[in-house]
Amino acid sequence: MKTIVVGSGMIGASVAYHLAVRGAEVTVVTGDRPGGIATAASFAWINAAPGNSRPYFEFRLKAILDWHRLQHELDGSLEMNWNGSLWWEDDMEAVEEKTWESTSWGYPMRVVSRVEAREQEPSLRQPPDQSVYSAIEGSVPPLQTARLLLDRAAARGAVIHTDTVLALTVDRGRATGVQTPSGLIQADEVILAAGEASKALSADVGVVLPMANLAGFLAQSVPRPPLLHGVVLAPRVHMRQCVDGRIVVGWDFGGSAAPDDPDHEAEKLIGAARELLVDDDLCLERFTLGVRPIPADGLPVIGPAPGLPGLYLAVMHSGITLAPLVGRLSAEEIVHGHALDVLEPYRLDRFTRQ
Ligand SMILES: Cc1cc2nc3c(=O)[nH]c(=O)nc-3n(C[C@H](O)[C@H](O)[C@H](O)COP(=O)(O)OP(=O)(O)OC[C@H]3O[C@@H](n4cnc5c(N)ncnc54)[C@H](O)[C@@H]3O)c2cc1C
Repeated sequence: MKTIVVGSGMIGASVAYHLAVRGAEVTVVTGDRPGGIATAASFAWINAAPGNSRPYFEFRLKAILDWHRLQHELDGSLEMNWNGSLWWEDDMEAVEEKTWESTSWGYPMRVVSRVEAREQEPSLRQPPDQSVYSAIEGSVPPLQTARLLLDRAAARGAVIHTDTVLALTVDRGRATGVQTPSGLIQADEVILAAGEASKALSADVGVVLPMANLAGFLAQSVPRPPLLHGVVLAPRVHMRQCVDGRIVVGWDFGGSAAPDDPDHEAEKLIGAARELLVDDDLCLERFTLGVRPIPADGLPVIGPAPGLPGLYLAVMHSGITLAPLVGRLSAEEIVHGHALDVLEPYRLDRFTRQ
């Protein structure tokens, strides 16, 4: 089977890798940013809770399992951090309520004392009296991981084109390929995993993808000696330490408007992290301003485009958490031609089905 994957962020790279593993003929058309755009600007926390509906929580839990499967499959080449997360807010009553909900669904999350918080994160200046520790959460270096998946797809025969898709092509009611500046590429199935750009590309062929994207701003410190063990979610900031020692810091997981003065905002973020950590020399190296590709109801869009056979959509937020699961399940559906029940809640036609 001949496939084209448009996009090589975490989602496109994972779909391409899993298709190649299943013996599909894969061409990835990446644009000029191999490894992705949102992916390169991501915080890259892998988690299932809190704040998700139970079915979506369970989907994300499967994704955490799938990261372990992928880590095993890639022979330890993935630099995952599985050191969990520590979370506290000013209003711990609300946190405890959410924690209890997740715990009652079986999630390994629990309220811990100051002593345990210090054991988890010894470099916090003032560990909170109470916080919530989630043992099974983690993070990945997003750009490196997407590129690793692309490399592994290429090792199994995938062809990677750093070309731009100008348009999807359609013939007699079926998606047949993509038009690029260097020519037409044809396939049996086109997988659109172009993040934010997916909306415009699909609109051109009459597929409406309702999106509610948000900006996402992060600051990165210069490399520091080991300070953070896992992900830290403090009342104003969240942060984690990358494998290269840089500390990544953001304000708000919900996304926010792009700052008017990004340099100043990034200094403020690093300042907030410095207040929390025993490191007076923590200073800013750079910032990233990304767009979070978010379908209008916050849930992923995965599956065949309604009314346009030959086109398969894979567009979502929390694409880092979800990538191995979405890659594997999409590849199963595409190669075997069977719809998988587990993906039903994420079909695009939910927006028009009433
Ligand atoms: C600040 C921030 C923090 C985040 N935090 C988290 C988090 O903690 N946990 C989590 O799970 N998720 C998080 N996310 C979301 C996550 O990063 C995204 O869901 C994920 O990266 C999406 O990956 P993608 O491959 O769909 O898109 P992208 O990474 O944007 O990749 C899109 C790809 O499409 C290509 N492309 C676009 N147009 C064309 C074209 N015309 N022709 C050819 N190629 C094209 C691009 O070159 C790129 O390769 C965060 C995002 C941001 C911005």
